[in-house]
Amino acid sequence: MMSEHSENCIFCKIIAGQIPAKKVHEDDEIIAFHDINPAAPLHLLIVPKTHIETLADVRPADEAVLGKMMAIAPRLAFENGAPPMPEGGLRVIMNVGPSGGQEVYHIHLHVLAGDKPWRGFAQGI
Ligand code: 5GP
Ligand code: ZN
Repeated sequence: MMSEHSENCIFCKIIAGQIPAKKVHEDDEIIAFHDINPAAPLHLLIVPKTHIETLADVRPADEAVLGKMMAIAPRLAFENGAPPMPEGGLRVIMNVGPSGGQEVYHIHLHVLAGDKPWRGFAQGI
């Protein structure tokens, strides 16, 4: 269920630089880039560099990187045009498994912002 990299994984290919992406952040543990099919005026994906298929596969050793993904979300959103607080804000979502609407099986946090981003999201991505 989990390995460092997976050959047929689109996000592992983005991490490896084999597929281009509009990156907004990269460090040794995570990468963040614009979603190719945005569901809101701002739609970023925050992705751990380790290939973890779903949130249900997370192990104790992964907890720190998941915390980092969550903690960096507001900063990346505001740096990339999310309306500032206190009036503005953002939404973070993670889809988990088929019933949860997950399409790419390498965990990622959706960061949505703009005018009522949850409406676009509720219509399904
Ligand atoms: P999921 O449904 O798995 O939670 O979300 C997968 C997301 O990845 C979708 O919003 C989709 O638009 C995005 N996506 C799929 N392939 C690519 C790609 O090659 N590049 C980028 N930037 N986003 C992608
Ligand atoms: Zn992967």
